[in-house]
Amino acid sequence: MDYKIAVLGTGAVGKSSIVVRYIRDTFTESYDPTVEDSYQKPDEFDGKACILDILDTAGMAEYSSLRTQYMEKGIGFVLVYSIVQTKTFQEIEPLIKKIYEVKQKDPATCTIPIVIVGNKVDLDAPGEREVTKEEGEQLAQRYHCRFLEASAKTNVNIRETFSQLVNAIDNSEFKH
Ligand code: GDP
Ligand code: MG
Repeated sequence: MDYKIAVLGTGAVGKSSIVVRYIRDTFTESYDPTVEDSYQKPDEFDGKACILDILDTAGMAEYSSLRTQYMEKGIGFVLVYSIVQTKTFQEIEPLIKKIYEVKQKDPATCTIPIVIVGNKVDLDAPGEREVTKEEGEQLAQRYHCRFLEASAKTNVNIRETFSQLVNAIDNSEFKH
């Protein structure tokens, strides 16, 4: 089965880094905001072979028609914010609402497969963290999303993110 996944979130939160860590198991400190690519990754979760078709998005400052297209095509979504930047967390709920709107679904009656990822957890230190784990969990609960804190840099919860999403898709009405 082919899992169409889109990775969304504000610029510089680590979307590309998460995807590259998962696909190639590498990490770089450099930042290219323009990178936008799709990847096909064969993997196996719970003994079941699958192909992840991952779209790493960029340049999502406003609700462009391109973003609407990503939302239409995706079956599952990874929504990324940075735990050291509140502003990036505040953009997650509007993204969730937009996904439900584009798919013409009501979060009260339907669950779209979404994993919310609080990235850069390696930077967690007193005075550095701006978003608590509880805030992330509460938002996820409200929309029946999965939630993980992760680090592309130190490879924490990266494969787990995609494993959770595949599991959420398998348990949803969206699988085909
Ligand atoms: P994107 O715009 O969301 O695709 O963000 P990038 O993946 O390009 O990352 C933006 C910047 O954050 C880059 O300088 C990365 O090296 C850095 N970065 C990404 N993930 C992490 C992480 O988990 N921890 C830390 N400390 N830096 C990260
Ligand atoms: Mg990027």
